[in-house]
Formats: sequence, structure tokens, C-alpha cells
Amino acid sequence: MSLPNRIFAALLAGAGMGILAQTLAPNHPILVWFVRNLSEPLGRMWLSALIMVVIPLILSTLSTGVAALGSLREVGRLGALTLLCFLFLTTTSSALGIFTMNLLRPGAALAAEVKQQLLAAYAGEVGSAAEMAGRSLWPELVVKLIPRNPVQAAAAGDMLAVIVFALFLGVGLATAGEKAGALGSVLEGLAHTTVAIINLVMRVAPVGVFCLIFSVSARFGWRLLLTLSSFVVTVVGALAVFQFVVYPLVVRLVAGRAPLEFLRRIRLVMVTAFSTSSSNATLPTTMRVAQDELGISREVAGFVLPLGATLNMNGTALFEGATVLFLAQVFGVPLSLKAQVLVVLLAVVTAIGTAGVPGGSLPLLMMVLATVGVPPEGIAVVFGVDRLLDMCRTTLNVTGDLVTASIVERWSWARFESGR
Ligand code: ASP
Repeated sequence: MSLPNRIFAALLAGAGMGILAQTLAPNHPILVWFVRNLSEPLGRMWLSALIMVVIPLILSTLSTGVAALGSLREVGRLGALTLLCFLFLTTTSSALGIFTMNLLRPGAALAAEVKQQLLAAYAGEVGSAAEMAGRSLWPELVVKLIPRNPVQAAAAGDMLAVIVFALFLGVGLATAGEKAGALGSVLEGLAHTTVAIINLVMRVAPVGVFCLIFSVSARFGWRLLLTLSSFVVTVVGALAVFQFVVYPLVVRLVAGRAPLEFLRRIRLVMVTAFSTSSSNATLPTTMRVAQDELGISREVAGFVLPLGATLNMNGTALFEGATVLFLAQVFGVPLSLKAQVLVVLLAVVTAIGTAGVPGGSLPLLMMVLATVGVPPEGIAVVFGVDRLLDMCRTTLNVTGDLVTASIVERWSWARFESGR
């Protein structure tokens, strides 16, 4: 069996056994022990092993990618095309989320006592997200984009700041030319070495995926899913439309590729994103698949994908737009057309600022809620089903990166040496 198929089988087995265990013996001491002491720690170890290589990977591939582009003009051209794709996809997806919620209005039907129960049950968990949401987008978060100390930024896991540093490093390398000496080859070496580590880590992916999915599904409140089924079905439906209709259309029309073949080739990326709920943890796999399966040049992959893993979050934007509207319906806050356009814009901006980690969008989502006058603590209503939605939206987030890389590969005029 090929690796993607084995991972997919592990995913199904983990989900099936987790749901079964939760249904037959919910909170049984053996199940709790197994999850706490075996499946969860093992899953987390695998996830950490993937995330471990993300900083060296971004640093080495983005800097050498930019340096390979040669001139600032080329970087600007590729950058502009990349950002244009990101913006187009993110705006379209958040608009789709809002449109679907307006159409089906599941929030209006949620019973008042269910709302109160959920608010009470998840109030505690909202606290930590609220702390982060207190920071303002401008100037605080934007100023922080340029790190004073790149080592500190890396240690804090601040990917945006690491990306900015890597971009500067690449431009510096290209400008210094010969004088950079061995630094270019050291970074190239680092890039190859991280790929080798990733290949090793991915060999045990079926075990890691099984453990992660089992832990999530054995603990997941499946009953809650029924209560919130209209919300979940609406969001997942809209995400599915984007994944299986909008992306394929864009892939066919703009990237000039066969959509089904495209989806087939990236299935390893999709299952990894689905099981890890993290764009960052998936980045190493995304990079490998882009080059090996889609034949995208190392320069384009090295430039577009690290940026995409942090900046381009189509699934997150869709989820944010949809959730703001849902909660506005639940709390009876009328949102005018103007307010809804603002939600689209805010969803785009906050999706850009979202960290590619599980639940990364929740603090920023609270910020959007507060801005348009919906009580931010209301997020407690959807907290319990967030993990499942996170798995789905992260799959879109990384698919969007590969769609963009395919477009940039086709339309960038520069021909790269490593291009096939
Ligand atoms: N988990 C998402 C990602 O890593 C971010 C989010 O929407 O919470 O792409």
C-alpha cells in the first residue's frame, strides 16, 4: 500500500475505533487511561516531530528560494502574483461562508436553553483565547512582523516574523552574491537535510495519525455534534463546495491542470492536514508533494508554500465568516449588508494573521465578533465542535497553497533551473 493510502486507512481506523469506544464505554477508566497515557502523547510526539523541522525548513527554503530568483524585481513579481492569488481565494471563501449562512440561517433555530448550556459549559476554555484576542491588529501585530531578534521570534514560534527574516536573508544573499561565501550552500544543505528528516518522520505517519485521530474522536462530544448539527453541516458543506468545486475550477481554468488528477496527487497533503489540524505541521509534506507529485520547481515551492502556510487560509476565512454570521443569528444581532462586507474583510485580514496551529483562528475570530457587535464569549457555543471543523478547514488551507503554487508556476515568466 502506498503511504497516502496507509495514512488514510489509519485515519479511518482511528476515527472508527475512537467513535466506537466513546459510544460503547464513554469515559471508561481504561479508555481515559489509554488516551491520556498512550494515544495522545504518541500523537503529540509525532506532531512535534513535524513541527520541529518547520523553522529550519522555512528559513532555508524561503531564503534560498528568494536568492535563486536573483533580482528584487523578480521577487516582487512573484510576490505580487502570489499575494493576488491568496487574496482572491481568501476573499471568495469567506464570502461563500457568509452567503451559505445567510441562505440556511441555522443560528436562528438554536434553542435558547441549548445556547445557555453551551455558554456555561465552555466559558472556561474561552478565557485563554480571549487573552490573546485583546491584542490589536494595528499597530501591535503588524509592527511585530519585523522581528527585533529573529532567534527570539523563532523560539516563540512566531512564523510571520521568521518568514520576514527569511525573506530579508534571501534578498541579502542575492545582493551579497559571491561575498556571501558558503552561506548559500549551507542553507541549501539545511534544506536538503530537513527534507530527509521529514521523510523519516513521515514513515511513521500512519501510527501518528491513528493516535491523533483516536484521541480526538474518543474524547469528542459526538452528542454535541447532533445539537449543533445544522451549524456543522452548513460549514462542512460550504467547505466541501470550496474544496471540490471552486478549487477544481480554479485549477482547471487558471492553473491549466486536470482537477481530479490534481486532487489525487495531493491526497497525502490533505490527509496530513486533516489529521494534524495544522498548516505548519503539514508544510514539510506540502513542500515535498508540490515538487515530487506536481512537478513544481523548487524556487516556486520554496517561495509560495512557506508564505501560504502562514498567510493563505481559505478554509479559516470561510469558517470565520460563517461562524460570525451564525453567532449573530444565535444572539439576535442583525448584521447589515455593510456589516457583512466588513466581516468578509476582517475574516480575510485575520485569516492572514492566524497561526497555522490547531485552533489558531479562535482568538482572532473573537476579535472579529467584538468588532461587529456580537458578544465574543459567544464563541463558547461552537467551541465543542471546533476540532472537527478545524480538521476540515486546515485541509482547505493547505490545498489553497498548492493551488496557488500551481498558478504561480504556470504564470511566472521566469523559467527556473530546477523546473521540470
Ligand atoms: N488550524 C488551522 C491551520 O493550521 C488554523 C485555524 O483555522 O485555526 O491552518
